[in-house]
Amino acid sequence: MPEGDAVHRTARRLHDAFAGAQLTHTDFRVPALATADLTGRCVVAVIARGKHILTRIDDGHTVHSHLRMDGAWQVLAPLAASRLTKPHEIRAVLATADVVAVGRRVHDVAIVRTTDEDTLVGHLGPDLLGSDWDEEEAVRRLRAAPDVAIGEALLDQRNLAGLGTIYRAETLYVSGVHPWTPVGDVPRLDELVRRAQRLMAAGRDAGRPPTSYVYARAPRPCTRCGTPVRKAMQGAPPYDRITYWCPHCQPERSAAP
Ligand SMILES: [Zn+2]
Repeated sequence: MPEGDAVHRTARRLHDAFAGAQLTHTDFRVPALATADLTGRCVVAVIARGKHILTRIDDGHTVHSHLRMDGAWQVLAPLAASRLTKPHEIRAVLATADVVAVGRRVHDVAIVRTTDEDTLVGHLGPDLLGSDWDEEEAVRRLRAAPDVAIGEALLDQRNLAGLGTIYRAETLYVSGVHPWTPVGDVPRLDELVRRAQRLMAAGRDAGRPPTSYVYARAPRPCTRCGTPVRKAMQGAPPYDRITYWCPHCQPERSAAP
């Protein structure tokens, strides 16, 4: 599952390859865009907003895509792109004379007016890796629902955008906070949010999460205290996602599952 760090890396790679370049071919393999053609247009910029990727075109439109659980954008040389396998996975193709971007299993492919991007991403909280990052605003949004478990609240992209299950687990571990602690009972919520931002920024720059204390480690022993790491689903189905924690390093403050 790509989290904000991977989405931002993808957007940066697309931006470096496409910004300022003229599109020589486009292909959108979703029914609503069957006749869309951006050939001859120039790409202005590619940016990430939370887990959304926005490709801005010089005609005032934006191509939107979302990686969700399994999507990916490949950036290929034209020769490699001519030998693509698994064509049924391809949802979008953007090509210049020098480079081809292939969106595999990307979701919610849409073209909107750039001035209407907010209809797709306006609900998102501050982006941990965005130029709009605003720690105080993220804390304010989290605190607005003090009874929600912090593990659930951190994945709600309306509070802050970009976190997924890896950074949630690692942030809560390094903060010593049990995932089911109500937001209102989390001590130093501002520091917890700051740690999440720093972990994710480090992960973006390194190409992988900088820590692996608990994520996917259950039932192996905690590296700090030796207690077996636990895991459980958190959140209301079908949006429940797996959480990992050390019951010793992240003591329970209230009702756990
Ligand atoms: Zn521990």
